[in-house]
Amino acid sequence: MTRERLAEMVQMGLVTPTGLISHGRGEAYDYLMGERSTEAALEAERAAAAYLLNAENPVICVNGNAAALDPEGIIALAKQIPAKIEVNLFHRTPERMEGLISYLESKGAEHVLGRDPDRRIQGLEHDRALCTSEGIYGSDVILVPIEDGDRAEALVAMGKKVISIDLNPLSRTSKAATVPVCDEISRALENISRFVEELRGDRETIIKTLDDFSNQDNRRRTIEGICAFLMDGLDGGDD
Ligand code: ATP
Repeated sequence: MTRERLAEMVQMGLVTPTGLISHGRGEAYDYLMGERSTEAALEAERAAAAYLLNAENPVICVNGNAAALDPEGIIALAKQIPAKIEVNLFHRTPERMEGLISYLESKGAEHVLGRDPDRRIQGLEHDRALCTSEGIYGSDVILVPIEDGDRAEALVAMGKKVISIDLNPLSRTSKAATVPVCDEISRALENISRFVEELRGDRETIIKTLDDFSNQDNRRRTIEGICAFLMDGLDGGDD
């Protein structure tokens, strides 16, 4: 079902063929984690909710894969926080930008940013650096689902708190992020949304949750979770 949807979006020109390769890599990690949210992922999702609630200008950055995989989840979370949505593409053409923004609007998103960039993400070359001052450039907390490492590192270097959604705990994106959520995008968005509801208004817990979070500890526990799941599978195979 998901694969068909992505293939359709490639036909429409909204997802690039390299996006399919990224998706395949994600599926492989999801398989290694047992296709469920691990304890470490839930902890990161809680920290992500705390950062988003504590932000002054939170932004959700959307690319072709993210828009194709869960437009409803992105739009619902953006409305709930509330956060702005900005489309930001690695392979940027005016047609893809317009197509993705219109696609999100057709799903109910309002005021999607990205059509008229007036700034650049520092340290990045080519059109993938283009962004808006109202959105990505002026954000203090930014959620980047399925992001590439260069851009995640550049956003961190600009002083932003970066929340990634990336199933690979060893990617440059996950290593660079303030909060690396190593979970499948739809599960991650749903869990973050649940934690936003739980934490909203509880300032003391919000601050404690984001202060206590450690990228390194969390990714270590993700990898330990993968190892444990694989060993369980091996033991099961011996029965
Ligand atoms: P990096 O540049 O960060 O080292 P990379 O070279 O793998 O990583 P991309 O292929 O652009 O860069 O990154 C896409 C990332 O998104 C991959 O790490 C992949 O695991 C992850 N990913 C793909 N599909 C999903 C999904 N459905 N949910 C969550 N993460 C996903």
